[in-house]
Amino acid sequence: MVDINAISVKNLYFGYNKRDVLRDISFDVNEGEFLSIIGPNGSGKSTLLKTLNHIYIPKSGEIMIKDLSIENYKKRDLAKYMAMVPQDTNIDFEFKVEEVVAMGRHPYQGRFQQESKEDKDIIYQSMELTNTLEIRDRYINEISGGERQRVFIAKALAQNPKIILLDEPTSHLDINHQMDVLNLLKRLNEDKGITVVLVIHDINLACRYSHRILLLKGGEIIGKGKPEDVITIANIESTYGMNVAIEKNKYTDHIYLTPIEIKHKIKDKKYHHIHIISGGGTGQELINRLYMEGHELSLGVLNVGDSDWQHGRSLRIPIVEEKPFSSISDKAYKKALDRIMESDIIVMTNVPIGTGNLINLKLADKSLDLGKKVIYYIENQYENFDFTNGEATSILNGMKEKGLKLIHDYDSLIEEIK
Ligand code: ADP
Ligand code: MG
Repeated sequence: MVDINAISVKNLYFGYNKRDVLRDISFDVNEGEFLSIIGPNGSGKSTLLKTLNHIYIPKSGEIMIKDLSIENYKKRDLAKYMAMVPQDTNIDFEFKVEEVVAMGRHPYQGRFQQESKEDKDIIYQSMELTNTLEIRDRYINEISGGERQRVFIAKALAQNPKIILLDEPTSHLDINHQMDVLNLLKRLNEDKGITVVLVIHDINLACRYSHRILLLKGGEIIGKGKPEDVITIANIESTYGMNVAIEKNKYTDHIYLTPIEIKHKIKDKKYHHIHIISGGGTGQELINRLYMEGHELSLGVLNVGDSDWQHGRSLRIPIVEEKPFSSISDKAYKKALDRIMESDIIVMTNVPIGTGNLINLKLADKSLDLGKKVIYYIENQYENFDFTNGEATSILNGMKEKGLKLIHDYDSLIEEIK
């Protein structure tokens, strides 16, 4: 990929009527780049694509295609450089697949001109590349959705473009055909050097296939850049109103987003800062519940690599951490104490206590001394949780006398936190 602009957009405004549907949009697409545009319904993705293809004229701002303002292109010259695969590819007329692909040659042909040898070759190659040769004699409205997408990509390729714009080409396809279309686009991008600008709903597919992502909300750019820089918890939360977890997918090594819950902050509800002392997976469900309730959380002390630590990381919750497999140091204890000072409520799970994590129990004990509300959340009763020769039990008994709250199920916990 080279750093030459295929498309450059500066301070673009557009509206269908008085209301601006695109506001102050600026971004570049490099030659050879694969850029995905994502955003909720109505955020302006299709409108943006249509202004890029000069179907709509901007109210203000500038669109440069290569090094020339879009206004200076004749329609057919633009079509030789940039092809668009629209969202709605339903055709009412009875065209055969090959005839549809051949339409891609119109910008190159005079009005009543016959197809030249070159036209025929390119039409053939376009069908070959998109695997549509076998269906060339079928009628366009008698093939499957996945096949039709490939036919319209073939038509776009017949324009012999440097840039191809696509509006949700995968939206009506099953996952197999979604990947089929995206793999085709990837091949065209990598092998033929075609610049791809793709509007797509599926954030995970966008992360997997794109060099960069443009995130739109309400006609404005919320983020642009590499998938890992744009697909952040904060961006997705503010754009889609969702609580999500973001991690690296262990199979594809790409950024992977898991929707957790629609965020519905309830007015007048009290949100707390809750510090969770857990470990070994005893905190996972607890963390999820409290996170979904919208509380501000912190965790620790947790050893790096512990399953609660991993879980907290994927939700970007602040964690006071200690080296892997090490006893908790005084330094980490003090850091956790700082977090506890800022918290309204401390929740401790009944993780088994040994000498390495006894200090976490002392942390909870100290919280009581500081006058904090401390909840001991016991989901599973262990026969033996004390691996310290009684020291843990004695601290715990002391804590019970100081007002430690014992809770055994989530409903009571949520009730208690209210
Ligand atoms: P997206 O593709 O992200 O779903 P669109 O670009 O289709 O969003 O729409 C952006 C906004 O513009 C929406 O509020 C939509 O209602 C409005 N809009 C889209 N097309 C038209 C149109 N032809 N006339 C008037 N408003 C439109
Ligand atoms: Mg759209």
